[in-house]
Amino acid sequence: MNGRREFDFIEAIRRQQRRDPRVPVGIGDDTAVLFGGSKDWLATVDMLVEGVHFDRTLMTPGQIGRKAMGVNLSDIAAMAGEPVAALVAIALPRGSEPSLGEELLEGMRQIGEEYGTTIIGGDTNRSTAGLVISVTLLGHPTGRGPVLRSGARVGDAVCVTGSLGYSLVRHHWDFTPRVREATTLHADYEIHSMMDLSDGLASDIFHLAHESGCGFRIRADLIPVVDALITDDRSPLDHALNDGEDFELLFTLPKTEAERLVQRQPLVVPVTIIGEVTAGNNVLLVNAEGKETVLRPGGYVHEW
Ligand SMILES: [Mg+2]
Repeated sequence: MNGRREFDFIEAIRRQQRRDPRVPVGIGDDTAVLFGGSKDWLATVDMLVEGVHFDRTLMTPGQIGRKAMGVNLSDIAAMAGEPVAALVAIALPRGSEPSLGEELLEGMRQIGEEYGTTIIGGDTNRSTAGLVISVTLLGHPTGRGPVLRSGARVGDAVCVTGSLGYSLVRHHWDFTPRVREATTLHADYEIHSMMDLSDGLASDIFHLAHESGCGFRIRADLIPVVDALITDDRSPLDHALNDGEDFELLFTLPKTEAERLVQRQPLVVPVTIIGEVTAGNNVLLVNAEGKETVLRPGGYVHEW
């Protein structure tokens, strides 16, 4: 599902959810947190549907499997967690080649292995329409606990890893879940809030605003854009704000910590400060001349 209907469905799940001490964090973050005695569990699920999320004429089964596992790894990364084990469910189209299931599994297995994750169970079925693949991934927060979307504080700096707007150029399945980057950040810096960018900065940032009860002031000229190779008439900033599937990390931390971080640059990708957390609930985009635009949730953002 996409957009409004997806939001309504998730809100409905949220409403029926009852307080349960075994579930410290339910719907609303990148993963749920389950109380696990000495170690909590993170749990997340993502389903990819042929014709909605991928086109089988453009992607190999191995690439589809890789993406299905990768999007879940990215959600575990968003909590600064360590992925542990996955459960996979696939519905194979009637009449599809017998190797399809094996190739999907191999794609999932390979990227899982890169992050120390095993597939521990699954289910297959027939689909009367397209291919459907669903991955449920479990992980542990590190000893410092999970980083939630709700922890942003007024005055925090807002940072992103890597560059944004890249998914169109590099193929949307070929991304790096920032699992190692997130645990490095969480181990060495006081990260207050974090999420992964799956729908695009201009819409994803509202999840942080909503869960933390804060606003944001984002400097458009500081957003790390990809300007190479874009051949359409949309600008790099437009892509960076509105394109999904970057799977970079968006996070907040005290300003002094952020300055220490961007000076040291401890990750394999650059970290950039793009703005600050403000009081209220407005998300403002400010250009280099100081002109402000108020962003709207889910709204497509055009430049000045
Ligand atoms: Mg996420």
